[in-house]
Amino acid sequence: MDICDLAPGYIRAIAPYQPGKPISELAREMGIEEASITKLASNENPLGVSPLAQRAIERALADLARYPDGNGFELKQALAGRYGVAQERIVLGNGSNDVLEMAARAFLAPGLEAIYSQHAFAVYSLVTQAIGATGVEVPARNFGHDLGAMRRAITPKTRMVFIANPNNPTGTLVPAAELEAFIAALPKEVVVVLDEAYNEYLSEELKADSIGWLKRFANLVVMRTFSKVYGLAGLRAGYAFADPGVADLMNRVRQPFNVNSLSLAAATAALGDHEFVRRSFELNRTGMKQITDGLRRLGIEFIPSFGNFVSFKVEEAAAVFQRLLKRGVIVRPIASYGMPQYLRVTIGLESENARFLAALKQALAA
Ligand SMILES: *Cc1c(COP(=O)(O)O)cnc(C)c1O
Repeated sequence: MDICDLAPGYIRAIAPYQPGKPISELAREMGIEEASITKLASNENPLGVSPLAQRAIERALADLARYPDGNGFELKQALAGRYGVAQERIVLGNGSNDVLEMAARAFLAPGLEAIYSQHAFAVYSLVTQAIGATGVEVPARNFGHDLGAMRRAITPKTRMVFIANPNNPTGTLVPAAELEAFIAALPKEVVVVLDEAYNEYLSEELKADSIGWLKRFANLVVMRTFSKVYGLAGLRAGYAFADPGVADLMNRVRQPFNVNSLSLAAATAALGDHEFVRRSFELNRTGMKQITDGLRRLGIEFIPSFGNFVSFKVEEAAAVFQRLLKRGVIVRPIASYGMPQYLRVTIGLESENARFLAALKQALAA
């Protein structure tokens, strides 16, 4: 007998998440300096950590012998003040991945269904599968969410719908009005998880009033993260806004100290670092133009993106990925997202973007 055969079939069937290749790993494999590598593979903030967050981390170091505030009072207070949301509506997570998992654990069970789009963020199917619930993938339209088809996929067993807006890895955006109409028309017993990890990269006129919608839709859960524009991917901090009852249920399945002290301190400070967020937004705007202009010059098709990354089409994407690695540039293959002819590149610093474009030109000629 193999002990592993005793694990539930739905666990054994999970395909592990494939993260971006770490800089240290490529350096080891190639025997080169980490400093010579450009990683544009995980939608990280090229400006690094906000100075205010850095200072908060340094202050928090002295207290690491103590457990964190399991309630995350200060961070919740800062979020509540910033977004005009009652603290009882906030759930904090060890990254928004943790919050996604809490939502799934609170509402899904074997025999129930969760709907998500083709090419949507991989974690939706992972958290659904880990519970033994049934994931229903709805074909995308032009790489984006087909809300009509998602609506038609709902059955009496459907308990959750995941929507990433903008979506990763396609960068597509569902217009706010369409999204609002979709949520309003959903059966009230279906929880909508609206993942807005890239919200802060949208220009103001494109942002949905998703937090305002919470007052009308008790079945809406809005998720955000400190991993992207706030530059804290390595610390792991994310959050959700939801109906107080829903937030209470999610908090019941949460590990008591899921967000560590450094994350709490850094996230609270980063939330108030408006200058850093503004610089990050601007850098992304100009970098997106630099990279898409460069792709056009190389005659490469890409999916217009609303995030801090863009997915582009190349024949033999796997080979091009390897050739880029040899040139010290890490991008992200997205074959596991059903896009074997695409690679995703994160918008970096101007010099990193230029290096990527030069390496890509060489990789295509090779
Ligand atoms: C990066 C990303 C997240 C953030 O994950 P964290 O766990 O907060 O680091 C969430 N959703 C999507 C779609 C993402 O691309």
